[in-house]
Amino acid sequence: MSDTMQKEQQVILCDMCTEEDQKPARKTCMKCEISMCVLHLQAHLTTPVLLQTHPLTEPMTLCGTTKCPLHGKLLEYYCLDDLTCVCVSCAIEDQHRLHNMKTFSTAHNELMEKLDAEQQALQVKTDDENVSLEKWEKSEREKVGRSSVRLIEGVTNLRDIALTSVQSSVSARMVSIKTSKTSMQAAQNEKDNFRFLQMYSQVHQDVEKAKAVDLRKGLQPGTIVTNWSRR
Ligand SMILES: [Zn+2]
Ligand SMILES: [Zn+2]
Ligand SMILES: [Zn+2]
Ligand SMILES: [Zn+2]
Repeated sequence: MSDTMQKEQQVILCDMCTEEDQKPARKTCMKCEISMCVLHLQAHLTTPVLLQTHPLTEPMTLCGTTKCPLHGKLLEYYCLDDLTCVCVSCAIEDQHRLHNMKTFSTAHNELMEKLDAEQQALQVKTDDENVSLEKWEKSEREKVGRSSVRLIEGVTNLRDIALTSVQSSVSARMVSIKTSKTSMQAAQNEKDNFRFLQMYSQVHQDVEKAKAVDLRKGLQPGTIVTNWSRR
């Protein structure tokens, strides 16, 4: 429904037909500013002077858009510098006289070619950008891959260092406990006062060392552990 209404609104009718039987227009004369049906168009198509000086367009509503607002003359040329339609007076006398002026059909062709070229250039640019985007994505993925490999290596190294240090702490403490037991036993078995007192200093050191081992506190950081945990 709205489609047909739109179509009806867009149909340009002949301005020369009687109102009772207005036919659809075939062309619009820019100079006369009227639209004409096939029949009423004949004069424009067969009279040489009209053919030369009355430019025809596809049917359209003109509303005074075909006359130069400055000179009141028919707009016949296109100024490529200002991208605007101008009349003959504009073209030869006024502000456009040094500008790049074309007839409508030449301007249309040239601008179409320009548009095509721009479209192609834009397409090439878009293609290039897509290619470089893909390249960038690939290289970023590779970077992330490489750095995660390094991270995993680093974490594995830290784990190995920690395990080694736990192991060495444990064995060091086992050694010190065993040593203290041995030297305590030796001291307890010593009956001679002097020899007992001579060895006591060492026994005391061994015992203190063994007492320092407190597994409830967790293993005190050994040298290696201290190094990496303080970094
Ligand atoms: Zn007509
Ligand atoms: Zn005309
Ligand atoms: Zn003008
Ligand atoms: Zn101009």
